[in-house]
Amino acid sequence: LFGYVGIEAVLDQMKIKTMKTGFEFNIMVVGQSGLGKSTMVNTLFKSKVSRKSSQPGQEERIPKTVQLQSITHIIQEKGVKMKLTVTDTPGFGDQINNDNCWDPIIKYINEQYERYLREEILITRKRKIPDTRVHGCVYFVPPTGHWLRPLDLEFMRRLSKIVNVVPVIAKADTLTLEERAEFKQRIQEDLRTHAISVYPQEDFDQDPEDRALNNRIREKIPFAVVGADQEHQVNGKRVLGRKTKWGIIEVENPAHCEFPLLQDLLIRSHLQDLKDITHNVHYESYRVRRLNESNR
Ligand code: GDP
Ligand code: MG
Repeated sequence: LFGYVGIEAVLDQMKIKTMKTGFEFNIMVVGQSGLGKSTMVNTLFKSKVSRKSSQPGQEERIPKTVQLQSITHIIQEKGVKMKLTVTDTPGFGDQINNDNCWDPIIKYINEQYERYLREEILITRKRKIPDTRVHGCVYFVPPTGHWLRPLDLEFMRRLSKIVNVVPVIAKADTLTLEERAEFKQRIQEDLRTHAISVYPQEDFDQDPEDRALNNRIREKIPFAVVGADQEHQVNGKRVLGRKTKWGIIEVENPAHCEFPLLQDLLIRSHLQDLKDITHNVHYESYRVRRLNESNR
């Protein structure tokens, strides 16, 4: 009877189910003012991937008191709907005294876990719980070319315990290629020395194949990104880029910067993994902590 299971048919069913329900994916950008966070949000939405298929204007505003703003686009491709939300945060660490400046961000992340938890523990649960949990937090490191600042380390140390942190070197066009490479090495060294585990975390590699793939990504992290929300004409084609005195830096050109690597990681190669780790690791530890508290 069970000689042939027909896994193919199961895979088809899974695909059809995803196509019908679609899925939600949430990213957050964090860093000091002026590092290009808001520009990067636009870059993500204006890039080729979302340009051809997204329905703009679906903006959701979070009340000003929270001081965070989310933009949602529905991206549709091959019949599958992805609801991509990017949450932009105001300048972080802009004050003279930056004690606890990460609090509003941690609070927001935990609030989304709490929302999910409340839906999940209801006796009559929704068939599909709305998911506003942050699947990836992109942290903008200022392009100083030196080392990470204590603030950067402290932020990543705290945040990496509750969310997938993806650090990037902001405004990489202000550094030469050599400077970018050297800065990247230093940041990797800094993170190692301080035992800060950013995404993709070695502990969560599933198998040797996974490990090999992720090792290649870990070598390149943090990606040296450039953002732009203007289009320019280059050889008769319109490209998203920044005009500098040396010419146009095309943000979607892998020879010019590593924005394509960031985009690939977030919304292509590691999308499902980011969601899985959020659910199975970060949300799970929140859930256990909360349920333990309320049982006391
Ligand atoms: P935010 O405060 O982090 O949201 O930064 P914004 O996105 O508002 O950008 C601040 C300024 O930096 C603006 O003038 C942008 O045009 C500029 N900018 C944004 N991204 C880049 C970048 O990748 N390279 C350079 N050189 N400038 C950038
Ligand atoms: Mg901004």
